[in-house]
Amino acid sequence: MTGSEKVALVSGGNKGIGFEVARQLGQLDYRVVIACRDEERGRVAADKLRSEDVEASYVVLDVSNPDSIATAVHKLGRLDVLINNAGIAPAEGPPSEVPLDVLRQTYETNVFGLVAVTQAVLPLLRKADAGRIVNLSSGAGSLTVVSRPDWRPEWNGLAYNTSKSAVNAVTVAFATELRDTPIKVNAVNPGYTKTDMSPGANRPAADGAAVVVHYAVLPANGPTGGFFDENGPIPW
Ligand code: NAP
Repeated sequence: MTGSEKVALVSGGNKGIGFEVARQLGQLDYRVVIACRDEERGRVAADKLRSEDVEASYVVLDVSNPDSIATAVHKLGRLDVLINNAGIAPAEGPPSEVPLDVLRQTYETNVFGLVAVTQAVLPLLRKADAGRIVNLSSGAGSLTVVSRPDWRPEWNGLAYNTSKSAVNAVTVAFATELRDTPIKVNAVNPGYTKTDMSPGANRPAADGAAVVVHYAVLPANGPTGGFFDENGPIPW
């Protein structure tokens, strides 16, 4: 291990944007911990990064399971950066037809899971010199964007979009509580990025991840309580 010995936890870090975030933070000399709900997928992902000389490990962590969160956080010891990346995007019809169970399951992961992980690791982040939290949001979480007249009806996902709007609100709430501490809390839209969640996109996962990493390593004079994409601040 070289560099700062800083530790970063990436939820859903076994694939997609989360895996690329873990890789890029590792390349910046963070010790990365991949939080993954499946032990084998976590092991494979950490092995892959270690084969690239990244200091990587994994913990089993299902963001919708409080016991799993507590067990995983207990193993950390130290934490400087939390990437709340784990998320799901269910198939959805028009809002009038989305079953409440789909809404509940989506919020369970994208919102309540994000809050539960954040609350669980905050005691560790408070001990860090420069704690950073990045919450994976989406352009679809921007009320400004989704209320534009040209917003596509097929992207009018009641569960996913509103869960990401809630992520934005949660981001502001934590940033407000923590504004007198060194901890910065920001929401980031990685952009429409080619992953299992968005197979039709063209943008490489590494590009989406780079935006996230930028806000994970902000200097002390960087922003908190904001919503950003690769071009800077974006409207709520
Ligand atoms: P992805 O490839 O589907 O990866 C999602 C990750 O979340 C997987 O590692 C998945 O684990 C994990 N996950 C899901 N539920 C979980 C749970 N209960 N506990 C722990 N991990 C869980 O998607 P992605 O595109 O990389 O998305 C990453 C984040 O970026 C999401 O929050 C997404 O909403 C956001 N985002 C993506 C795009 C895009 O265009 N791709 C755009 C805007 C925002 P498994 O492997 O076990 O399923």
